[in-house]
Amino acid sequence: MRNTNSYDIAVLGLGAVGSMAAWRAAARGARVIGFERYDIAHAHGSSHGGSRIFRQTLFEGTEYVPLVNRARPLWNRLERESGAALFQVSGGLCIGPEDSALIANALASARIGGFEHELLEPDELAGRFPQHAAIPEDFAVFEPGAGVLDPEACIRAAVRLATGHGAEIAPRTEVTAIEHDESGVSIRTGADSFRARRAIVATGAWFTDLLPDLALPLKVQRSPLVWFTGADRPAYRPERFPVFIRRSGELDGWGIPDVDGNGVKIGAGPSAPKPWLQRPEDNGYPIDERDTDPVEKFCAAAFPGLNPVAASAAPCMNSRTTDRDFVLGVTRRAPSLVLAGGFSGHGFKHASASADVCVDLALDGASDVPLSRFSPDRFSSGQGEGQ
Ligand SMILES: Cc1cc2nc3c(=O)[nH]c(=O)nc-3n(C[C@H](O)[C@H](O)[C@H](O)COP(=O)(O)OP(=O)(O)OC[C@H]3O[C@@H](n4cnc5c(N)ncnc54)[C@H](O)[C@@H]3O)c2cc1C
Repeated sequence: MRNTNSYDIAVLGLGAVGSMAAWRAAARGARVIGFERYDIAHAHGSSHGGSRIFRQTLFEGTEYVPLVNRARPLWNRLERESGAALFQVSGGLCIGPEDSALIANALASARIGGFEHELLEPDELAGRFPQHAAIPEDFAVFEPGAGVLDPEACIRAAVRLATGHGAEIAPRTEVTAIEHDESGVSIRTGADSFRARRAIVATGAWFTDLLPDLALPLKVQRSPLVWFTGADRPAYRPERFPVFIRRSGELDGWGIPDVDGNGVKIGAGPSAPKPWLQRPEDNGYPIDERDTDPVEKFCAAAFPGLNPVAASAAPCMNSRTTDRDFVLGVTRRAPSLVLAGGFSGHGFKHASASADVCVDLALDGASDVPLSRFSPDRFSSGQGEGQ
């Protein structure tokens, strides 16, 4: 049995947030070890499928603006320092009725964050982006700086940089148990045990497995990635087809341009039925029509120019909180753990910043980013329940 006592930070899970946390912590001079149960950048969690939307029009709430403000320069830095191509600009659209929460919140976040944006009236939307089915009431907030991150490339780049800064990385190594007290964390991986001053828990869909005593109200939901193609493929490339979120009554979905020749990636929005999973491992079954039917229905109604039969599809999953806000912070019940989970289907764009905030908390005990909306203790005080 190996028994090592001298780590500043252990990172549990090296997906979107954990890989970035290992990079940020090692770059700041911490002695870091990172554990990943699968290979680096695998397809069993929440961060695969070649593309994720990056946008700063954050209809989820203006409390996310400080996070995205920190995320954007970190993605640029990851790209610069790794030399990998990670981000493609496509612009972004939030489409819905003028008086909808989607449009109001997208505008509010763009104004507060000072992000470049335009409000498009229905005829401008139809004229500039004719790929979308026109609805006379639909406005759009257009954000020219939005685009597409490549999740697997981001994770690989962050792990490479972390290693370059001296982090020890342990792929195919499952953390099987942790014990924590004020002085630090003991980590078991099968026969080996490790000790660190702080652990960043970034285990995605497995988030609650290592934290049963915290009783966080998270559930895991299967959420498929589905690709569509059409006759005019150039019309759906990033130069002409922005990433989008659409909430127009029954038209409820999101999409990403064809960045890699596989087609437009489309998802049905929160109103579509998606199965809850007892355990993340239950997501291993193949795609079937329960996955593709709601997305094909959305595609048929939203895109007259696309063939509404899925060209390809893959399972993915979300770890969801009851209020769909992140869990990001430290709880008084586990002061040596920094918790980063429950990203509820909108966490990738913020992953670089969420990770950096975790490192602030692990090394300095505080962060400049306001975190009260994401507090792990909000559930125990009764807030955020009821969905
Ligand atoms: C269909 C779909 C589309 C999405 N689209 C977008 C989008 O366009 N834009 C956006 O911003 N967000 C999007 N999201 C959300 C985003 O992808 C997730 O919020 C984010 O990837 C979650 O990152 P994570 O680090 O929490 O989880 P993961 O990246 O899954 O990482 C968790 C890691 O922990 C490892 N692990 C777990 N348990 C252990 C253990 N015991 N020991 C060692 N390792 C362990 C796992 O193997 C995994 O690698 C989407 C999500 C889905 C499902």
